Amino acid sequence: MPAKYEWPNPDGLYCKSYCPLHPEVHGIVFAIVDELCDAFQTDAFHAGMDEVFYIGEDKCPRCGGRDKAALFADEVRTIATHLREKNRELWIWGDRLIDGKVTGLGMWEASMNNTARAVDLIPKDVVICDWHYERPDLTAIYFAMKGLRVVTCPYNRPLVAEAQMADLYTFRAHATPEMKDKFYGAMQTVWSGAERFLDSYYGVMPKTPSTPRPQDAGKDPVLTFKTMYKKIDELKKTSN
Ligand SMILES: [Zn+2]
Repeated sequence: MPAKYEWPNPDGLYCKSYCPLHPEVHGIVFAIVDELCDAFQTDAFHAGMDEVFYIGEDKCPRCGGRDKAALFADEVRTIATHLREKNRELWIWGDRLIDGKVTGLGMWEASMNNTARAVDLIPKDVVICDWHYERPDLTAIYFAMKGLRVVTCPYNRPLVAEAQMADLYTFRAHATPEMKDKFYGAMQTVWSGAERFLDSYYGVMPKTPSTPRPQDAGKDPVLTFKTMYKKIDELKKTSN
C-alpha cells in the first residue's frame, strides 16, 4: 500500500485487496465479521468480495503465480466456514464469478482477471447477490444452475428493476422444484448513505440538496425501489 492512497490510483482503480494468504489476516477479518454479526444480531453476513482486481499479484511472495480462481474461492470458503460454525451464512456479490469477456459484461460487473472459474469451487451454501444496474442481465439462471441461491440486485433504473422482477417470477414459474428455490429473491442496493435514501423515500427535503448531474437523468434509487415493489405486487396477483 502506498502511504497516501488516491483515487483513481495509477491503475485507474479505487479498490484495495488484502492478501488472503497472509498468516495474520483472518485474525482481523474474523474479529470484524463476528463483531458486525453480533452488533446487528444477524445470521447472514455480506462480505462484499466484489471488484477484486488485486489477487494473486506476482509481487506477493505468497500468492504470486497461484490460480486466481482458486485463491478467490479458497477465501470465500474460509469466511463461509467461519460463519457456518456459528450457524451463519455468507452472502457475496457475484461479479467475480462471471466471465466478463464471454458475456461482454466487462471488468466491473464481471471478471476479466481470471476469477470466474471460482463459481465451480465455492461452497454451495453461499448466497450470490447478482448486481446489474444498467440492463436486466439473465445471469441469475447461471448461478441457480450452479446450485447457488441467487438474489437479483437493482439500483437506480426503475425500468431495469421492473424487468428483473418479471424475470425473477418467470424463472421461478419455469423452474424445476430443484431450481425454483435457488431464485432466492431481490435486494435493492443503495450507494448513498442510508439517511439520504430514507429522507428521499419519505419525501423529507435533504439538509444538503445536491444538483443532479446530467448523466444521472432518469436514475433514482427510491423510485426504483418503489417501482420494484409495485411490480412485485402486480406479479403476486397474477402468479400462484
Ligand atoms: Zn498475497
